[in-house]
Amino acid sequence: MRITVLAGGVGGARFALGLRDAARAAHGDAAEITVVANVGDDMWLSGVKVCPDLDSLLYALAGVNDAERGWGRAGESERVAGELAAYGVGWPWFTLGDLDLGTHLARTALLRDGADLTEATARLAARWPIGATLLPVTNDEVPTHVVTDEGVLHFEEWWVRTRAQLPARRFVQHGLERSRISHAARAAIAGADVLLVAPSNPVVSIGTIVGIPGVRDAIETARAPVVGVSPIIGGQALRGMAAACLATIGVETDAAAVAAHYGARSDDGLLDGWLVAEQDAAAVPRLAELGIVAEARPLLLTPGAPAQQVAADALALAARLAG
Ligand code: GDP
Ligand code: CA
Repeated sequence: MRITVLAGGVGGARFALGLRDAARAAHGDAAEITVVANVGDDMWLSGVKVCPDLDSLLYALAGVNDAERGWGRAGESERVAGELAAYGVGWPWFTLGDLDLGTHLARTALLRDGADLTEATARLAARWPIGATLLPVTNDEVPTHVVTDEGVLHFEEWWVRTRAQLPARRFVQHGLERSRISHAARAAIAGADVLLVAPSNPVVSIGTIVGIPGVRDAIETARAPVVGVSPIIGGQALRGMAAACLATIGVETDAAAVAAHYGARSDDGLLDGWLVAEQDAAAVPRLAELGIVAEARPLLLTPGAPAQQVAADALALAARLAG
């Protein structure tokens, strides 16, 4: 059973952990999970290549993430960051921890030695038994920039320094037209038995992934059903500022509005199925009219059994749509 999931960072990681448990429970060793990750947040900072979403996924799947803080490595220290700040290098509001810097240095070394981002990510992931294949959606650089009234900022500067408080007029992926889906990501989509869309930011995580040339084609021609999980519950984005991103592209912060924005696959869109939270059950008949089979289920990705159940429900809906 080959399961491929499109994912951003934190929401993607919480879902991926549940998916690993659910897939093992249902399919044992026959479960093969591939996570196709957003790279729109990536940047070069203090001389190293930082991939926030790949790292959130890697650390969570490896069990070395700081679950309380919500990002980075557990047991982190910040000695190097203090030195960088003393030299005035880097972003003082974007601390790279010492252990985290080890990842970025290793990645940068691999890239300097000629590896592409797919190969470098595989080398980093090989360190831990993460129980999944982790792939960047593309080997090309497609940094998201945010157009504001005070100038154009890298996405992470807008997100972390301004806490998404500065109104975003537009999101722009630099280099998008010249980018290409990677061979590995294309193969993971084409060869999947089930395709899932994680409850990730619909604009700057999933939107960036499906905007990479080749991704929509790969999904369109894939034989697997595509089931998404709503990141919006009761009109709220959990643990994040996704509402600010949705407002910029004129989409309501609402589970049905996000599904309609993704569109029905039968209508050149992304989705065959969509899970909404129980309080959004009224969206189910509305989405049926658009050609999206929706179900209302608990969608809180509390680690352990609840997150596993969310993923199991997504797999069950996919099985129903396939069969
Ligand atoms: P980022 O790259 O770190 O911003 O993370 P993602 O793009 O993967 O996910 C961010 C989204 O995850 C947020 O917009 C939230 O709406 C969503 N999210 C976070 N926690 C939960 C949860 O427990 N359940 C659901 N359904 N969505 C969640
Ligand atoms: Ca992200």
